[in-house]
Amino acid sequence: MPWFGMDIGGTLVKLVYFEPYDILSEESQEAETLSKIQHYLKSNSAYGATGKRDAHLQMDNVEIQGHVGTLHFIRFPTSEMRVFLELAKSKGIATLASTVCATGGGAYKFEEDFKREVNLELHKFDELDSLICGIHYIEANCEEECYYFNNPLNEELCEKKHFDFSNPYPFLVVNIGSGVSILAVYAPGHYKRVTGTSLGGGTFLGLCCLLTGCETFEEAIALAEMGDSTKVDKLVRDIYGGDYPKFNLQGDTVASSFGNMISKDRVGAASKEDLARATLVTITNNIGSIARMCAVNEGIVKVVFVGNFLRVNPISMKLLAYAMDFWSKGTLKALFLEHEGYFGAVGCLMELMK
Ligand code: ADP
Repeated sequence: MPWFGMDIGGTLVKLVYFEPYDILSEESQEAETLSKIQHYLKSNSAYGATGKRDAHLQMDNVEIQGHVGTLHFIRFPTSEMRVFLELAKSKGIATLASTVCATGGGAYKFEEDFKREVNLELHKFDELDSLICGIHYIEANCEEECYYFNNPLNEELCEKKHFDFSNPYPFLVVNIGSGVSILAVYAPGHYKRVTGTSLGGGTFLGLCCLLTGCETFEEAIALAEMGDSTKVDKLVRDIYGGDYPKFNLQGDTVASSFGNMISKDRVGAASKEDLARATLVTITNNIGSIARMCAVNEGIVKVVFVGNFLRVNPISMKLLAYAMDFWSKGTLKALFLEHEGYFGAVGCLMELMK
């Protein structure tokens, strides 16, 4: 106690905290300290100005090891890790726990700091094992977790639909964090890492900051929402004057991402919004294309996209949904999960409970 799992990634720390109802209602010193810590974990002040608790993802009345309680989901930038440790020290977390479960690269990078600052040992779990374990747990405990899009690129007809993922195997997981990992999952505990790409969510944000001067992910997405990528990309019709019918390539297909930016006039005509949109579309389509090839190679039709790159980012989700369907002639299905980037942290907590 307290029960939390941490996924310390390249960009964001994901913290999942289990609040057991029974223990908190006891009258004991431990319950009092726990409730203090819980109050602290639930307040944003714990993670600096940029930390957030995703209250909309909270799961009530879940059972873990015979205790019923609530799972809370919290994230803050990895750059705030030291501030978090200082605050954790001042709140006396170490008086309640001697070990904290952690996954992600930061579990190694910050191990010494945990020991020195708050006298906590990190119990480290592999991030991909944790990711798979977390997907299983949440899918089994959250009815409306998995969804897909019908008519993803048609504004009027597009609808988000629940997908019954109770019989999931085999499936591909495309985890889009700072970078991307693609896993093929065949059965509980049986999976392999197929491949990865360094062109991921970190690349989108990094390039967007450079090209537009924006400073946050939310800002980058807001710019992209207002932009038009066709002002930046070279399309099939820019080259052919129309479609390329022999290979069924329509005129509005991107032939060369950012390909129009070799012309000064075109550069002058492209706004920050257009550049943000083109960056988002470029990164998303590249991931979609790699994911599709992996699915075909592995003979898997269900492709589950997760990771915080998809947070507040319907543009990418819909593009991925469209690309999977279109380029596979309807054989592949793009699926999404509500808890997007939290599966590693949840899985890590579950490993502790085993
Ligand atoms: P990691 O474990 O590598 O930190 P995540 O799954 O947490 O990966 O995803 C990180 C990516 O999510 C970022 O590269 C960025 O594209 C996106 N993102 C979403 N929300 C934020 C945010 N508040 N701050 C920074 N990046 C964010």
